[in-house]
Amino acid sequence: MKLYYTGHDYRYACEQSLLVLFPTERPEYSEEQVKENAAYLSLHYGKTWVTASCRIYRDGVFDGSARVRKALLTDELSIHRLLPKILRLAFYRAAERCTGKSLAWGALTGVRPAKLATRLLEEGLSAKSAVSRMKKDFFVSPSRAELCVETAKASLAVKRSLEPQDVCLYVGIPFCPTRCAYCSFVSIGVERSHKLLTEYLPALYREIDATGEAVKKAGLRPVALYIGGGTPTTLSAPQLAELMERISAAFDLSAIREYTVEAGRPDTITPEKLEALKLHGCDRVSINPQTMNDSVLEAIGRRHSAADTLRAYGEACDAGFAAVNMDLIAGLPTDTAESFAKTLDTVLSLAPENITVHTLSMKKGSHILLEGRAIPGEEEVSAMLDYASEKLYAAGYRPYYLYRQKYISGGFENIGWCKPGFESVYNLCIMEELCTILAMGGGGSTKLTNPNTGYIARITDKKYPREYIDTIDDAVKAREEICAFYRREHLLPDNT
Ligand code: SF4
Repeated sequence: MKLYYTGHDYRYACEQSLLVLFPTERPEYSEEQVKENAAYLSLHYGKTWVTASCRIYRDGVFDGSARVRKALLTDELSIHRLLPKILRLAFYRAAERCTGKSLAWGALTGVRPAKLATRLLEEGLSAKSAVSRMKKDFFVSPSRAELCVETAKASLAVKRSLEPQDVCLYVGIPFCPTRCAYCSFVSIGVERSHKLLTEYLPALYREIDATGEAVKKAGLRPVALYIGGGTPTTLSAPQLAELMERISAAFDLSAIREYTVEAGRPDTITPEKLEALKLHGCDRVSINPQTMNDSVLEAIGRRHSAADTLRAYGEACDAGFAAVNMDLIAGLPTDTAESFAKTLDTVLSLAPENITVHTLSMKKGSHILLEGRAIPGEEEVSAMLDYASEKLYAAGYRPYYLYRQKYISGGFENIGWCKPGFESVYNLCIMEELCTILAMGGGGSTKLTNPNTGYIARITDKKYPREYIDTIDDAVKAREEICAFYRREHLLPDNT
């Protein structure tokens, strides 16, 4: 769809709205003013109000507008928050008239809608008033507004429990047995890359050691540790043991509240590996069936069966982890609402502490997108998610974190559900940006966070394992930025 701006250049806000409101469209720009498949977005400054207007030409003409009092635009922060907001609202109103559809998340386009709910609660609103505000100001559906406020409560509880020096650690193993059809992650199959893995681990240990030194120097305290991927359990039991020993040697883990290892693919899990994880301090594993329907598993290239998941889950229970998470995806190719319901019922019968219900995201570079595979429509995905919510609430689970992704089916969301008391600290910290996340390994994204201002600086590791290995000297050097950040933000003395 062609986009035209008058009186502003808030491209990002308008493009994000376009992707959510018209998921099959991409933003285009042209000098020529056309009147089909086009949206004109303008800001007009009056005496008392600034008004955003949107006119969409698409099989007709559809208008929407929203306004804000000029008096509220007091500084850069308020200007750059409120003006994009009214443009998004105007675009949403026009799109609603154009498509005849209301979206579950209304005019909200961000990845972290719970942040808005958290802010409202922190401003002193009751949960009920926060729900009303989200419905009224952003046209969020009642079910999503309630969900959002509930997750915001969990986020606030963890936020209030954190000390300024608390950080989370992430260690990435970007290797998998095979590549799933919906994956765009830079993970490579271990069969093809065994040699690379043996080069990768020593490089990773260097980054772990350098991060450990920086953490000690800056007086930071790790409170949650997550070994993710890829699939960390593609490593052998001795490799896992060595990795975890290197981590324990580099960091003081005495304040760790949660230690998770993603044992994502059931076909990589063995009792020996689970024993190694348990022995080295891991107390939470994630076993991810995605679906319990074998034909859907085959369609997405997982190369394991539902029976493998049941076996792996049983082994994890026998190993005695404090918590097990299971990931599911709504909207996979060839899946149906009925088959998804069976998947959910089976997983619920296992009663894991956490169940994360994702919605399929059509990621760039995934086989699903590249091969143009058919996926369930929006209504079917909506039925899957509604079924999941109803069943999970009834079984005593509560939503504790949620996030949205680009290109997600129907503009829906991913929701982490837990039994009360099993909220994952790491998931909340990373999704709600509650504290610094120190990431190590290929594709890792470190987020240095000032707990007083919320300001975030990033350090990213090279994505591909080969690149990561070849540039490890740079990655190790970049760890100096950790102390530098805390000094710059006046959280450490200058001479640290
Ligand atoms: S297990 Fe995860 S990271 Fe690995 S290929 Fe599948 S989706 Fe990608």
